Amino acid sequence: MERRTRQRDAVQRVIDEASDPLTPQDIHDAAQTHAPGLGIATVYRTLKLLEGGGEIVAVELPGEPARYESAGLGHHHHFHCRQCGRVFDVADCPKQLERITPPGFRLERHEVLLYGVCAGCLGG
Ligand SMILES: [Zn+2]
Ligand SMILES: [Zn+2]
Repeated sequence: MERRTRQRDAVQRVIDEASDPLTPQDIHDAAQTHAPGLGIATVYRTLKLLEGGGEIVAVELPGEPARYESAGLGHHHHFHCRQCGRVFDVADCPKQLERITPPGFRLERHEVLLYGVCAGCLGG
């Protein structure tokens, strides 16, 4: 397999197999098993490529480096642990947000970000 293709596959695979959004550094570390010697610059370049192709999406949190997850996950939200800094997927959605939308406004999309401490950090 061509080197470039192998690197792209390694990055895509790490993201697809992850249960939570990953930082470029997480992806770089995990991808070493599939593509030894993969550099961080190549990871960044590959992430741009995959994002441009609609393969993955960036998860942007205020004041945080962008994390990446599979594009096929569908609508969901995130929980940010202030202790370990990890970001977890939250499958549920509060819905009924029309109720807090000002009268006469049309709600088109929303983002919900939960902050707290994860079960791992709480020792659970
Ligand atoms: Zn935690
Ligand atoms: Zn939602």
